[in-house]
Amino acid sequence: MIFLIRKTDLRKALLCCGGFLCAACVFHLLAGELPAVSVFSARAETPVTVVIDPGHGGEDGGAVSSGGVAESHINLAVSKQVRDLLRFAGQRTVMTREEDVTICDEGLGTIRERKASDIRNRVNMVAETENAVLLSIHQNSLPSSPVTHGAQVFWNQQEGAEELAEVIQTALNSTVNVGNEKHTKRIPSTVYLMKHVTVPAVLVECGFLTNREETTLLQDETYQRGLAVSITAGYLRGISEGEAP
Ligand SMILES: [Zn+2]
Repeated sequence: MIFLIRKTDLRKALLCCGGFLCAACVFHLLAGELPAVSVFSARAETPVTVVIDPGHGGEDGGAVSSGGVAESHINLAVSKQVRDLLRFAGQRTVMTREEDVTICDEGLGTIRERKASDIRNRVNMVAETENAVLLSIHQNSLPSSPVTHGAQVFWNQQEGAEELAEVIQTALNSTVNVGNEKHTKRIPSTVYLMKHVTVPAVLVECGFLTNREETTLLQDETYQRGLAVSITAGYLRGISEGEAP
């Protein structure tokens, strides 16, 4: 299958492939088409562990579409597919959550306290992971512009994060963002998790729950796989040793 897919057919193949094996073929192909960068080679003595963070969870659904679709469920579904693909590619991964839960301390009285505890625990999880890279998965929302759609990658201020975000954005632009290419942005300082971790961190906003068509796509397992393949292919390119594609 690898040899039969032409570059121009890549997006169609990526979005149509139904099985894990097909996804694996396409992500190898896609990884080979991205420009090689060496984001983390300076820290290569200890293997990198990707902390995959499905945003929100449990009572904190995050952004919610007009039809009641909460981003927390989509975040978890995409994150699990990214985890499976990264493991398939031999990468170390940990997840901040594997179920629809808030990871706060017990005995807290208010939602505000539980949310603050949840975020602190995610920061601690990253801090306790040796040679970690944080990959946070979210969905976007822009009620003032229901036509706005597409995937966008944000980066924190740590060395290597911007380059990693760029290569993941390039992968997404060649698949789910065709005709709607986006640029990476520095993460706003209001995002506590990204601001408080001291490792390279990227946050992928996979799509907009304020766009009706995209909300339907974001709930589709095959579309989620396309997102996961693009994110994984970009990540693998980002940590490569810079060999020629
Ligand atoms: Zn979110």
